[in-house]
Amino acid sequence: MKMKTLNCPVCGGSLVFYKSGEHYGYQCFDCPLSVVESSTPEGALNNAKQLISLFPPIMQVQIEDTVLWKSCPVIVLDKDIKVGELMVLDSYGNKHMVDQQDIDGWPWELEGGEYVPS
Ligand SMILES: [Zn+2]
Repeated sequence: MKMKTLNCPVCGGSLVFYKSGEHYGYQCFDCPLSVVESSTPEGALNNAKQLISLFPPIMQVQIEDTVLWKSCPVIVLDKDIKVGELMVLDSYGNKHMVDQQDIDGWPWELEGGEYVPS
């Protein structure tokens, strides 16, 4: 199974795995964000995922991620966290400003399978 890189929800940098003595953890090299350490690598990964899941989707989503909007996959070009809007590129090459509420599927919901509209 391919290990997906974890992105920092605060700055968009990479959360990097580390081992310190008997403890494992993740931390961002680009900002002060770090994850509670664990005694196992799996535990550290779970802690990291749990921390990321606490952030609003617009903070979790990364530039160039694919999201679902109006049932179509679109690419995130930019995001304005303060306003809560994403700039996306559709398959026709048109740009749109989309309110985060209007996103039908986030990358982590699409991962590992077909998107099934509810
Ligand atoms: Zn960061």
